[in-house]
Amino acid sequence: MIKEGKIGVTSEDIFPIIKQFLYSDQEIFLRELVSNAVDATQKLKALERTGEFKGELGDLTIKVKIDKEKGTLTVSDRGIGMTAEEVDKYINQIAFTSANEFLQKYKDKIDSIIGRFGLGFYSAFMVSDRVELITKSWKEDAPAVKWTCEGKPEFKIEEAQKDDRGTDVILYISEDAKEYLEDSRIEGLLTKYSRFLPIPIKFITSTGKEITITEEPLWKKNPSELKHEDYIEFYKKLYPDSFEEPLFYIHLNVDYPFNLTGILYFPKIRSNLEIQKNKIQLYANQVFVTDSVENIVPEFLTLLHGVLDSPDIPLNVSRSYLQTDANVRKISNHITKKVADKLHEIFKENRKEFEEKWDDLKLFIQYGMMTDEKFYDRMKDIYLVKNVDKKYFTLDEYKELIKDNQTDKYNTLIYLYATDPEEQHSFIQAAKDKGYDVLLFDGSLDIPFVNFLEQKLEQARFARVDSDIIDNLIKKEDKTEVTLDAQTRDELAVVFESAVPAELGIFTAQFEAMGKEQLPVTITQSEYMRRMKDIGMLGGPHISLYDNLPNNYNLVINTDHSLINKIIEDINNSLGEKLQQLHDKKKELQQQIDSLKQEHKDKKEDEIPFTEREKLDKLNKELEEVTNEISKLLREYAKNSSLVKQIVDLALLSRNMLKGEKLTDFVKRSVKFIE
Ligand code: ADP
Repeated sequence: MIKEGKIGVTSEDIFPIIKQFLYSDQEIFLRELVSNAVDATQKLKALERTGEFKGELGDLTIKVKIDKEKGTLTVSDRGIGMTAEEVDKYINQIAFTSANEFLQKYKDKIDSIIGRFGLGFYSAFMVSDRVELITKSWKEDAPAVKWTCEGKPEFKIEEAQKDDRGTDVILYISEDAKEYLEDSRIEGLLTKYSRFLPIPIKFITSTGKEITITEEPLWKKNPSELKHEDYIEFYKKLYPDSFEEPLFYIHLNVDYPFNLTGILYFPKIRSNLEIQKNKIQLYANQVFVTDSVENIVPEFLTLLHGVLDSPDIPLNVSRSYLQTDANVRKISNHITKKVADKLHEIFKENRKEFEEKWDDLKLFIQYGMMTDEKFYDRMKDIYLVKNVDKKYFTLDEYKELIKDNQTDKYNTLIYLYATDPEEQHSFIQAAKDKGYDVLLFDGSLDIPFVNFLEQKLEQARFARVDSDIIDNLIKKEDKTEVTLDAQTRDELAVVFESAVPAELGIFTAQFEAMGKEQLPVTITQSEYMRRMKDIGMLGGPHISLYDNLPNNYNLVINTDHSLINKIIEDINNSLGEKLQQLHDKKKELQQQIDSLKQEHKDKKEDEIPFTEREKLDKLNKELEEVTNEISKLLREYAKNSSLVKQIVDLALLSRNMLKGEKLTDFVKRSVKFIE
């Protein structure tokens, strides 16, 4: 026996803390032990380089071995080893003190940090009842020593038998940690944490099978030595479950003012952002640390895949603190810049490739531009829009294309867009007939991005092609005014509004002189109302208000169309006299009401005699009755008019809003028309 003793002074509670507090991140013990073995091996290699160590390095493979019978897990290295004095110094004193300090410091928030910042050698006690360390120093004639500790402050150091240089750490796995004697569990952990280490690692399973864990950390290699296939192969290694190839990649390699290496891949990003996130793996000197890099890179970059390796990211601090750390800020800016540079490079060198990849990249870029001002500034010149004819333009190119034709009389540039070229076909056609261009916005972030761009572009507005008739979307000086008188408009409004099935929403008649060749009736939905609904659909806390809004549409009646004139005539013919009488009566009542109101104009409420007030009430009531009667008559007319129904159904049909029984009625009625 060389030494028996008691670790430290304030040590009584360290073991219970190690066992209990760290339970959630237990598994990191293996990472810590393997990392120590790697350090010890690299130190020996360094000694060889300086000539201090003159022996044979030999096979330096680190071995991790399960022995089910003994219930042990052993990590063996052929590194520098330790003398008895060193064990006392590094394990009993320094390692213990630092583990203890670490625990005291982070007692309260231990769960959030332990996984990223190890407490070293003593983490072995999270899973062991007893830990033995058998070690033999590289120094000539140094005797082997064995250190034993049973999860209590007491330890002992004794002489041991060990021929080979290096260290074996033997864990006697405790009853509640038996999972660490399972081959698959250990292989999984080694692959997760220690796969890319600079010293080869072998796992020897409980049945004696040898499994090589180590793989080459491609990001540490010089980019000039690597081929495209190497990167793709590495991607597949990192993400064996992903069957799609990345769009492209960036190899990061910075020494100063911070150290950062890594490879970032651009995956194809489709609609569901959440499942794409958190695929980047963060390493520190090739040791896996975490795969949640939020607060380390800007939010939108968490959509990328790949590895980042930096010893300069402080991992022993809270996540919110990371954002304010100078190094982290620099690293994150650097990555953002590199990503933007790469996109610029492709844009400049191969515009065609850029366009081909655009649809798969767009979501990522939009997300980045909306959430990161710097990225917006870097990307705005190469952001592409695609029109319905699948041509791509930068924002500047597009502005140039439309500015002469699509600037309205208020000097606002109107960007027309469609979200569904099939459903909005007639509107796109109407816009094209005017020589206008229509953009295609069918991506899942396009709508919020429209709102965003509107704030960035000056004197510009986006309008979906079906949000009004084209002459209203881009108002020009020469727009033809409607000449129809108020009474006829009111009549047509009642007739057409009553012909739309109520369950489809609220329809409001609007009169436009659109030219003879346009449809007699068109259905539009105001840009504002629709965006409100769209926001509601996106979900979120403050918008449930918009969720329950009824659908509001405009029923645009083309007063230039011969069928509309035909209906006006038909109303006159079939309801003429009766309707005229009611209108006359209405007019008369209105006059009486107006003149009474005129008399009362300068009087206060209580100065008006009771009889007069009663009279006014009575007139108003009569007016209401007459108005109702007119409406009733017109609704009755609409109900019996196949022509009105047919025109409204055609409008609904061209918006894909005619369904079910109503569609069947329409088909039957159409057959009758052509019979
Ligand atoms: P850290 O590795 O952060 O220094 P640890 O608690 O893991 O802290 O280890 C404490 C010290 O014990 C190490 O610095 C090293 O000197 C020594 N040590 C641990 N494991 C080994 C090993 N496998 N071979 C040689 N020395 C070791």
